[in-house]
Amino acid sequence: MIEFRSVAKTYKSLLGRTVHAVEEFSLQVAEGEVLGIAGPNGAGKSTILSMLLGYFPPTSGEIVVGGLSPRRFVERHGIGYLSELIAIPPRWKLEVALERYAILADIEPARVKARVDEVCTLLGLDEHRGKRVKALSKGTLQRLGLAQALLRDERLLILDEPTHGLDPLWTQNFRDIVQGLRNPARTIIMASHNLDELQRVADRVAIIDHGRLQRLVSTGYSAEDLPSGVYQIGTAAGSDIAMGIEPRLAAVGANGFVLGPVTLTELNAVLKKLMEAGVVISSVVPSQSVLERQFREAVGEQGRETSS
Ligand code: ADP
Repeated sequence: MIEFRSVAKTYKSLLGRTVHAVEEFSLQVAEGEVLGIAGPNGAGKSTILSMLLGYFPPTSGEIVVGGLSPRRFVERHGIGYLSELIAIPPRWKLEVALERYAILADIEPARVKARVDEVCTLLGLDEHRGKRVKALSKGTLQRLGLAQALLRDERLLILDEPTHGLDPLWTQNFRDIVQGLRNPARTIIMASHNLDELQRVADRVAIIDHGRLQRLVSTGYSAEDLPSGVYQIGTAAGSDIAMGIEPRLAAVGANGFVLGPVTLTELNAVLKKLMEAGVVISSVVPSQSVLERQFREAVGEQGRETSS
């Protein structure tokens, strides 16, 4: 569906310096895939998305979307796009805004009302339909942006920081919405600072830094290829005997332990031993997801922020 072939983009800064925003970026994204893009600020994410949206061409290399250049693809098929900064005129009423975007998106006039109803219901916007944009909370505004991106049933959806400003309930709902949008003919690309969200929603995550693809991480994994990890183990009974059974456990608080790094097989063996001895396990939580670990390894921990 999408292919980046050795894409590079350089900017000229105001002082005339050349900024290499993206370099040697090659990646293929399949139809039906949900691809996450993660990276610290200034990594090159927006530049990559802007080229994919056809805003400007790469300085060198090539991007092909559905067999076309991004610009041609947008002209012919359109792309559903949620931008990081939603700029909707503040005086427009939510419902009117969506109707106008629907018309701009070339939805048949007779279908506009029904489609606006559908996206409002999907994103829980019904109670806000009559409100002016300036009166909306950040989370509602974000949902309006998402509703706008979903108006047309696009084959390609690009979501830049889609859960920015959403409360935990809507962040969870958003995951369900993305699952519902999954379709063998649709490709979804999602840039986010939220690694936990990418881990749950995306099939693969491209970790970008210094304009380059540093790692491509599959979020699905089998027990064999899961690298060793550190786990927090909670116990509801038998905490006093646990460390006598497994010396690698380190106590944290009254009913908790830390174990690791261990492989999944080792973790399971320890849990079995504990349970057989009468310890009641209440929780097992990895202290870092696979994606988080890969991100830290690729980007480095010192002084790098993942949030803006
Ligand atoms: P991200 O979206 O990951 O934060 P960007 O793609 O916005 O990263 O930026 C990548 C690099 O390119 C940064 O060093 C940024 O300062 C630089 N950059 C982005 N846009 C411009 C521009 N219009 N002119 C000059 N430099 C730019």
